[in-house]
Amino acid sequence: MQFVSTRGAAPPASFSDVLLAGLAPDGGLYLPASWPQVSDRFHGMRYQDAAIRILSEFTRGSFSDAELRSAVEAAYAGFDAAAIAPLSEIGDGRYLLELFHGPTLAFKDIAMQVLGQLFSRALAKRGGRATVVAATSGDTGSAAIAALGGLPNIDVFVMHPRGRVSDVQRLQMTTCAHANVHNIALNGSFDDAQSIVKSLFADKAFANEISLTAVNSINFARIAAQCVYYFTATAALDKPATFVVPTGNFGDIFAGEAAGRMGLDVARLVIATNANDILARTLNEGVYASGASHATLSPSMDIQVASNFERALFEAAQRDADWTSAAMSDFARSRKLELPTPVLSELRIRYSAFASNDDETRAAIKAVFRLTGRIIDPHTAVGVAAAMKMGKPLSPVVILSTAHPAKFPQAVSEAIGQAPPQPERLSGLKNLPERLDVLDKDPVLIQRFISSRLAP
Ligand SMILES: *Cc1c(COP(=O)(O)O)cnc(C)c1O
Repeated sequence: MQFVSTRGAAPPASFSDVLLAGLAPDGGLYLPASWPQVSDRFHGMRYQDAAIRILSEFTRGSFSDAELRSAVEAAYAGFDAAAIAPLSEIGDGRYLLELFHGPTLAFKDIAMQVLGQLFSRALAKRGGRATVVAATSGDTGSAAIAALGGLPNIDVFVMHPRGRVSDVQRLQMTTCAHANVHNIALNGSFDDAQSIVKSLFADKAFANEISLTAVNSINFARIAAQCVYYFTATAALDKPATFVVPTGNFGDIFAGEAAGRMGLDVARLVIATNANDILARTLNEGVYASGASHATLSPSMDIQVASNFERALFEAAQRDADWTSAAMSDFARSRKLELPTPVLSELRIRYSAFASNDDETRAAIKAVFRLTGRIIDPHTAVGVAAAMKMGKPLSPVVILSTAHPAKFPQAVSEAIGQAPPQPERLSGLKNLPERLDVLDKDPVLIQRFISSRLAP
């Protein structure tokens, strides 16, 4: 399978190239040159087998069937639900798709675990080492550490804003004992961390020397692994569903578009956002404009610029790379983009959007608890709040449940007056030693730190 960039100025790339590079060299995002068609319906099939079937369409030419099988089996071996992504009904034709059964209790494990396994196999074949550097506001860092910790030929540096992630999130990162994991507690904000990562990539000599790479959701391998649960959920319900997706960087919901383009019958994709409602406003008003970011109860969705939206724009513009490229540079300059009518209409065929504030998020946690006795996390609750705004569903409604409530005990307590029970994965963390280096937000200092840790 060959991949092309949304900005049209990168040479065609293989799956391995895409996996190891993350971003395309022209600044665009990779997509398959054409969408593979998957007509299998996966009734009663193991999740892992469905994943292998779907991923094989993308990995062909880069990984053998046996390599893909061993990667996928290893990726899901540590999940605590046999179904990997089970569905549970919450009443009125609404279901939760539980995506939090991996090692760090958030949906990012589902794709990051596969990415880590494929990464180490791709490096073993290509030779050499790679250095992953990631900025995190919480969930991405722990998922990357859980996936890459202990793998050969990879070092992973994760920068979190010191004192601005939850205790659970910090412990999940800093108690990892593997020598290839390096935690940096940055004296600064998440945006500072993100801008340092950008400056490391911008220093081409440094980036090449250490084979710097990115594992955030712009990496197409993550989207590919996330398509799978749209197929398996549809198979379990035996009819097309409306998927409601708590959305930040647009990676998870774009995987739903990808599944649709691969032939899955998807009734509708509903973008659920918190008060950072840029995407809801875009869909409803036709103008993509970023503003100031608000801190909410669902911090993993506190994002103003949704990187993966570029993929949806490219598709909605009938894959016009010249338009996409010009539109993205306009947006980078003015922080605002008016969508042409045909592009907006095309997006509206597939997507709806609803934003909910913190009060509505707490109310959704409370409502689900009252009706079913289930405790949901605030990200899932943003999805439930959107589903309630849609009114009585005609097709089954599947709300993607993206995190375990125990990751966000504060928000849950505020809503229902009691803390969620702690799963075993978290209860031991407090007694483990932490490893982290506190560093100032100086790119040169961070660069020196990385080099010193990589020195043989
Ligand atoms: C990352 C994350 C999201 C948002 O997913 P995107 O792919 O960035 O849209 C939602 N919920 C949780 C718990 C997350 O960690």
